[in-house]
Amino acid sequence: MNTKKFFLNENEMPQYWYNIVADMPVKPLPPLHPGTREPITPDMLSPLFPDELIRQELTDERFVKIPDAVLEKYKIYRPSPLIRATELEKALNTDCRIYYKYEGGSPSGSHKPNTAIPQAYYNAQAGVKKITTETGAGQWGTALSFACAQYGIECEVYMVKASYEQKPYRKIMMNTFGAKVHPSPSDRTEAGRNFLAHNPQTGGSLGMAISEAIEMAVQDEHTKYSLGSVLNHVLLHQTVIGEEAIKQFDLAQDSPDVIIAPLGGGSNFAGLAFPFLREKLTGGGSQRFVAVEPASCPKLTKGEFMYDFGDTQGYTPLLPMYTLGHNFEPASIHAGGLRYHGASVLCSQLLKDRLIEAASVDQLECFAAGSIFAKAEGIIPAPESNHAIAQVLREVEQAREEGKQKTILFNLSGHGFVDMMAYADYHDGKLQEHELTRAEIQASLKEIKELQPAAVSEI
Ligand SMILES: *Cc1c(COP(=O)(O)O)cnc(C)c1O
Repeated sequence: MNTKKFFLNENEMPQYWYNIVADMPVKPLPPLHPGTREPITPDMLSPLFPDELIRQELTDERFVKIPDAVLEKYKIYRPSPLIRATELEKALNTDCRIYYKYEGGSPSGSHKPNTAIPQAYYNAQAGVKKITTETGAGQWGTALSFACAQYGIECEVYMVKASYEQKPYRKIMMNTFGAKVHPSPSDRTEAGRNFLAHNPQTGGSLGMAISEAIEMAVQDEHTKYSLGSVLNHVLLHQTVIGEEAIKQFDLAQDSPDVIIAPLGGGSNFAGLAFPFLREKLTGGGSQRFVAVEPASCPKLTKGEFMYDFGDTQGYTPLLPMYTLGHNFEPASIHAGGLRYHGASVLCSQLLKDRLIEAASVDQLECFAAGSIFAKAEGIIPAPESNHAIAQVLREVEQAREEGKQKTILFNLSGHGFVDMMAYADYHDGKLQEHELTRAEIQASLKEIKELQPAAVSEI
C-alpha cells in the first residue's frame, strides 16, 4: 500500500535556512540607489529594516542558522506534511507520482508566517515598537499580524482597497491578531494622496500599498517596515519548506523530477525549489523547476528583465528583475497574492540563466484544476495555489502524451477557506479569462526604460 503522508518530528526540523546566492553561477546584480544609480549600502536600508535582516539581505553565506527562539515559534505549525496526492493520481488516471507540501496549516493558512515570524523576531530583538506593511488579498497582513502579536509589536497594515472592500474576513482576522488595517491608497500618506489625486477611483495595488507602508515607517525611528515577498531575506526564510521536503522525500524513498509552485513575488516558489536546486547545482541532476504566474500578470513570461522600483511611488531601491513596470495595475483577478508587477531578484536571475522555467495560466484553467484537486484530496486550495495545480495537470497530460512516468512535487501554498467568493464566482460562470497584450505591456514598460543605469546597459 502507498504511504500517503510523510511527517517529520519537531526535533528533525531544519536548523538552517539556505541562501542560494552562494551557489548561483551568475550572481545577482546589485540593487541601486535611484538617485545616484550606485549600488545601495546597508545604511541606506536601516530606516526600513533591523540590522540582522539587512545582513541577511546582502549576505552570500550558504547557510544561515535559524535562531532557537524562531524554531520554537515554527513549532506552532511546523513541520508541515508532505502528502502524496494518491486520490488525485487516481482521479487523473495517471502513472505519475504527485506530491504536495501543504503550507495551509499555519496561523494565516499559507506559507507567509515562515518569514513573518523571523522578521518580527529580529525587529523585537532590535527594540522596534511598530511594523508597517502592505497586503493584497490579506494573506501577508494576516501572517505579520500574528507574528507581531507573538512579540508584542504593533502592526499597521495597508490593504489594497479593492480587497479591503471585497474580502472583509481577512481584515477581521488581522484585527483579531491585533493589527490596524487601512484601505490603500489612503489619505494618511503623501504617496496615497498622490495616487488618489491621479485616480480617485483606483482600487489600489500592492505597489501603492508598499509606498504607503514605507512612508509611514521612515517617519518614525521606532517603526520599521516589513515586506512579505520579493526580497532575498524573505526567500531565505521560506527555504525551511524545501529543506523539510528533502528530508521527507528521503522517508518516501523517492525524488521529484519536476518542482512546481505559484509565483507572486517568488517567496514560496523559492522556499520549495531552492534547496532542491542546490542539489542540482552542486551534485548535478535533471530536475526541472517551474514557477507559475497568472496570464493577467505575466512578468516572467512576458515582462522584461530590467531595473525597476519595487513600489509605485518609487521609494524602494531599483531592483534588477523581470517586471511589467511599477505603474502597472493588474486586473482584479482572484489570486490577489500573485498581482505584483515584478519578481524577486533571485528568481529573475535564475530564470534569465535558464535554471528555472516559468509558465502562465489563466484563472478559468486554475479554478478548474483547483476544483479537481479539492474533490480528490479534500482541501480547497487558495486561488494562488491553483496556478501550481493547473501546471501539475499540464505535466501529467504531457507525460501521458510522451508515454512517460514522472514524480511531481508542488507547493500547496495555502488553503482557500477565506476565498469562497472566488469559488462562488467560478461556479456562477462569472470568472473571465484575462490575458495581457504585448501593446499593454510595452506601454507600461516605456517609462521604466529611462530608469536603466548606463553602466549595465547590456542587461
Ligand atoms: C502570497 C501568496 C502567494 C504568492 O506569493 P509568493 O511570495 O510568490 O510566494 C502564493 N500563494 C499563497 C497562498 C499566498 O498567500
